[in-house]
Amino acid sequence: MKISVLGLGIMGAGMARQLLAKGFTVAVWNRDSRKAEPLAAAGARVASSVADAAQRADVVFAMLANDEASRSVWLGDSGALAAMREGAIAVESSTLTVDWVRQLSGVAEQRGVGFLDAPVTGSKVQAESGALSFLVGGSAELLERVRPALTAMSGSIAHLGPTGSGAMMKLINNFLCGVQVASLAEAIAMVERSGLDARQAAAVLGSGSPGSPLVKIVAQRMLDRAYAPNFLVPLMAKDLLYAQQVFAQAGIELKSAVVAREQFVAAERAGFAEQDIASIVELLRR
Ligand code: NAP
Repeated sequence: MKISVLGLGIMGAGMARQLLAKGFTVAVWNRDSRKAEPLAAAGARVASSVADAAQRADVVFAMLANDEASRSVWLGDSGALAAMREGAIAVESSTLTVDWVRQLSGVAEQRGVGFLDAPVTGSKVQAESGALSFLVGGSAELLERVRPALTAMSGSIAHLGPTGSGAMMKLINNFLCGVQVASLAEAIAMVERSGLDARQAAAVLGSGSPGSPLVKIVAQRMLDRAYAPNFLVPLMAKDLLYAQQVFAQAGIELKSAVVAREQFVAAERAGFAEQDIASIVELLRR
């Protein structure tokens, strides 16, 4: 199976490396071509353009920031879909709106290209170690065809239903992640102001009912002021916005996401755009 990976950020780079490590033939492309160089050393072919990456591939994965990035990479005369051969499969793994994913699927279908939405849970560490979880929307038949590639990058694959189901599940998932991190930042700020021992307090929270895997990991990063990016602040702001939109379409006003998102947007504006989501606690420390 010849695979192309479009987008070599924190997640895409790790995913491409796992495919190479498991023996797939991989071509890579990134808007900033400097991020492709380390992948060449690992055995990838560095494509000169999106079309160059897409035209010879059996399966094309995209792992991009947002709807705008996805639109610009897949569509247009020089986009991936125009270059892909009929019968090839496009897999969108970015966290995107359900509306856009469904629209993109329609364009792929018109061109005779198969389409799956397959966003992921797990972060940098899971991408680099092949331990992601894929949340897949689309036909079971297409999923079976790409399963070997997904398996190379993941520890679990959930088929959630027709096109858009993966994107929907991912936004519900990240809504809960976003509000947890926003609340945690407030809790940590209070712990620090209260005079409690911060490490002891974090251990109490982590081993008690609020101690989700996310809360445990991010609390540690907040206390250590360890903000090297695993998940960038603007991407969580984006996920919470996309979640608000899709919940609103279903008649649910996502009030908790609105106030949580304010913290990520404020952090982005305050200079933390290139930092991990844990850095939002800094605004409350000021
Ligand atoms: P990242 O490191 O910021 O990478 C973003 C990628 O998108 C880069 O390759 C970037 O290219 C590309 N990009 C942005 N705008 C573009 C445009 N207009 N045209 C073409 N390419 C563009 O982010 P990431 O953490 O890898 O996340 C990628 C996706 O996975 C996002 O949708 C994110 O929400 C989702 N996700 C992330 C995590 C996580 O923990 N990090 C977990 C699950 C899902 P340049 O390098 O040229 O800027």
